[in-house]
Amino acid sequence: MSDFFPSEIQKIKQILIPTKKIVITSHHNPDGDAIGSVLGLHFILKKMGLNAQMILPNEVPSFLNWLPEADKIVKYSKQKVEAKRLLAEADIIFSLDYNGSARLEKLSDDFDKAKGTKILIDHHPNPDNVFAHYISDTNVSSTAELVFEFALALKGHELISPDAAICIYTGIMTDTGSFNYGCSNPRTFEVVAQLVKMGIDIEVAQQNVYNTFSEERMRLLGYALAQKMKVFPKQRAAFISLTKNELEQFDYKIGDTEGLVNYPLSIENIVFSALFIENTNQVKVSLRSRGSFPVNLISERYFNGGGHKNAAGGKSPTTLTETENAFIKIIEEYSEQLNN
Ligand code: 5GP
Ligand code: MN
Repeated sequence: MSDFFPSEIQKIKQILIPTKKIVITSHHNPDGDAIGSVLGLHFILKKMGLNAQMILPNEVPSFLNWLPEADKIVKYSKQKVEAKRLLAEADIIFSLDYNGSARLEKLSDDFDKAKGTKILIDHHPNPDNVFAHYISDTNVSSTAELVFEFALALKGHELISPDAAICIYTGIMTDTGSFNYGCSNPRTFEVVAQLVKMGIDIEVAQQNVYNTFSEERMRLLGYALAQKMKVFPKQRAAFISLTKNELEQFDYKIGDTEGLVNYPLSIENIVFSALFIENTNQVKVSLRSRGSFPVNLISERYFNGGGHKNAAGGKSPTTLTETENAFIKIIEEYSEQLNN
């Protein structure tokens, strides 16, 4: 028997049968790991003769739209009635790459009400206790890596089709910043080696995800770094903030600010970076760090959010300026820890 969550796998195997209605969900503003995991699991279940519907709270960003069958994902923001019906009727609901229903935003009430058996596959700390089964491990690179292990434990490599393989690879690649962070466990590279053996084209994934900027997105990046980045060398911190108006000037599309928060960490000595994006009623907050500074705790405490030690997100109900000022206070308060 595999040592990958043996008792959970045993129980999940018994309920995964063709008569069951299965739904796969992931979080609001889905990233590469969310979408790669959802599509990957969908292809794995397909190989088992199971048909699963995929639901997300909102849109798939264009740099992930090329993934096979991404167009089959039901988006609550566009197909409300369909998404609600699928969740209500589901016998089994997979929750991938998020640790609680708050991350589903507008879909969270329907998820909370849904009667189906809820199965978590995720790598965030402290999951809600609403799930019937937990495949939860904070020591893996990505949820996509867990989806790979899940397929091996359910049956074996034969469940991983070339389509599943490229989706899983994209999840691992994006959540590790192309094997830059979060992949200190050698197992991640063993999983990737197996995906490469299955014939995935790494260059295609890299090209489609990272080299498909619109001209406006590239100019927004330049503008944000040149004009909007504030650096606080004493606190070893930096932030970038963008107003709604600025985003409109650069013809903002969902996903256009992805990765932007990482840039200040390339400045020597900067270990804490934040990105503030002005939305209609709130400010979206993204936090990143290098080393031991736990941005998930900062996000939980000040920005109603959470995430991982080095990558977290949340929101601020105040104005952009007030959010910036709160951040400046925070880095002053944590100055000593930031300099450790
Ligand atoms: P990002 O900054 O890319 O939106 O998110 C970084 C990390 O923080 C991701 O792992 C994501 O799951 C988590 N995260 C982002 N926004 C939120 C939020 O509002 N609440 C919680 N709990 N986690 C978040
Ligand atoms: Mn993830």
